[in-house]
Order: sequence, then structure tokens, then C-alpha cells
Amino acid sequence: MATVPERDDLQALTGYHSAQVDVAVRLNANESPFPPPAAWRAAYAEAVSSIAWERYPDRQATDLRQAIAAWHGVRPDQVFAANGSNEVLQTLLLAYGGPGRRVVTFEPTYQLHGHIARVTGAEVVEGDRGSDFAIDADSAAELVTTARPAVTFLCSPNNPTGRVEAPGLVRRLLGIVPGLLVVDEAYAEFSDWTALDLIDDDVPLCVVRTFSKTWSMAGVRLGYLVGPPWVVETLDKVVLPYHLDAAKQVAGRLALRFGGEMTSRVGQIVAERQRVTAALAAQPVDVFPSGANFVLLRPRLRPGRAVWQSLVDAGVLVRDCSSWPRLDDCLRVTIGTPTENDRFLAALADALEDRTGEDG
Ligand code: PMP
Repeated sequence: MATVPERDDLQALTGYHSAQVDVAVRLNANESPFPPPAAWRAAYAEAVSSIAWERYPDRQATDLRQAIAAWHGVRPDQVFAANGSNEVLQTLLLAYGGPGRRVVTFEPTYQLHGHIARVTGAEVVEGDRGSDFAIDADSAAELVTTARPAVTFLCSPNNPTGRVEAPGLVRRLLGIVPGLLVVDEAYAEFSDWTALDLIDDDVPLCVVRTFSKTWSMAGVRLGYLVGPPWVVETLDKVVLPYHLDAAKQVAGRLALRFGGEMTSRVGQIVAERQRVTAALAAQPVDVFPSGANFVLLRPRLRPGRAVWQSLVDAGVLVRDCSSWPRLDDCLRVTIGTPTENDRFLAALADALEDRTGEDG
């Protein structure tokens, strides 16, 4: 079969994959274990019944942006929403990345930052984290000063390590970055710090959030950015017209009415994260402190891949990071319901000791 060659610079790239294995306990994608509140479902069903389906949606997503702005105490012109925070990141990189520009990441971090940057044709300059996955502020400052990136990414809490970036690091980088500083806060509600307080019209800072985790709406695909209006205007220029469908705009706007329920679910997940972390500390694994709805761990006695397979065989799916650069043998487990977490902990205890009959 004749094929048409893709762009030369895409040949070295592989797509982003997360196994969707059909098992009873799925703790691999950092989703919420809880469905949205029943009252949200009812309000949504009623609201969609009056959508004018024959018309294009509100291109400015006015009501949704107003609701997001009110939730964070900012103005609607500081808010850009898109189909998942991944599309927010893509739009940012289409506008500020591209050929001839550099993007800085601190690895290991969320793979899509570097991946999307490369897809736009930008050059990715990777900074390293220390063995505890903290970013050394002096080396980070030196890197952005020499690389002169158009976009510098931080991720707080960082996926997949769980570490909350030091506020001092964010402030320091903000003072010296030559381009945009983007803080991906997909998991910030589970932590005790946010960069949102640093947002200002004259400051080149953007904070990216999602409805996929805390808001229990991964199925909707909705995320947003809070940043200076001049960034929002640029993103509006780049994104496809009518990219946010009418149903999604309603889904997000209504979700924000249930902030109380969301906060209480976050509280339950954080309490479970503490319980799981404490239980892991008694096992032969290295556990990395997390401010997110997941925990990174490294088995000490068996290879990570073998432990992952034993867990799958026991009906528990976690994320296998063991072959990712700088994450040798690491696994990432999403915090689920108490029952799911108990099943994970029991299966892990067996898998770590190889009581499952699997080969190490
Ligand atoms: N940022 C980070 C750090 C993430 O972990 C994820 C989800 N894996 C995303 C962004 C994308 O989330 P979504 O597109 O569902 O909003």
C-alpha cells in the first residue's frame, strides 16, 4: 500500500498511550472514583432539553467563562476554556510554540507538555529533577536564562510524581522567564497551594485546570486556563471556531454550582491518599510524597513491570511508568474509593512478595 510520508520531525514521535485494560479496579488514569452529584445530572438533563441544537454554540462560551471566573474570583477575559486541559495546552503551544521556538520542561513530568510542543515544531529543552523529584531553583533559573524558552512548563502537583512545586520556585521563575510560565494545575485542588494568586494582567503566568479530576467529569472533556487577557485573546485567535459544543458549556457551568459536593469529595480522596500512603510505608516500596489524587511508588524487591502484571492479574490496573525515562521501576496508583484502595493494597502486598505465582 502506498503511503504519504508524514512530516520528518514527526517520525521520531510516538503517540500518548494509557492502557485501557478491562479489570474490576481501574486506578490508572487519575480519574475521580465518584460520579458527579445526582442533582447535577438532573439539572444537566433539564438544561440540555432546551438547547437550540440547530444553531452553532456561543463561540465565546460567555456563561461558562463567567461561571469559571466567578469560581476563581477573576474576570471572564482572563479565562479560556477548551476540550480538556490537553486542548488548552495544545492551543497555548500552537500560539506560543512552533518552529524556531523553545519550550522548557522539568522531567519527569506530564508527557504531553513536551509531546505537544514537539508536534507544533518547537524544540523541547528538558531540565532534570533531583532524585526526590524536586526542581533545583538555581539550575532551573540557569536553564531558562540560557535556553530563552517561549514557554516554560511547571506542573503542580506534578504528574506522575505527585510533588507540589515550591511556591518560591514559581515566583523566582516568574521574575526571569523570557516567555510564558505555564503552571499545569490539573490536580491542584488536592494540594494546599495554587499559583492562581500570582495571576495578574502584566504577569506572563497562565494556570491550567481541568474538570476531569476533581469535578468527576473526565467524560465531558473540559479544561481551562486562567491568565492575562492578552494570552486569552491570542488563544481565541488560534482555536477552531465553535470548539466548545453547547452541551459541554452547559455541563461545566452547572458543575460549578456543586462546589460544596466537589470540595467534600476532594476531602475524602485526600484522606484516602493519606491512608494509602501510610499503608504503603509499611511495604517494601519507596513512596513519594503526593499532593494529588495519585501516589508514585517504586517496589524494592521485584521489578516494577512484574509487580504491575501481578496487579493486573489480580484485577487491579495501575499506571506502569517503569519504562519511562527517569522513572525506573515506578508505578503510579490513582486514589479510588476505600474499597478499591483496599483491593489495591491487598493485591500489592501479594505482588511485592511475589505470592502470585508470577515470575520476577
Ligand atoms: N495535565 C495533567 C498534569 C494531567 O495529568 C492531565 C490528565 N492526565 C491533563 C493535563 C489533561 O487532562 P484533561 O485533558 O482531561 O483535562
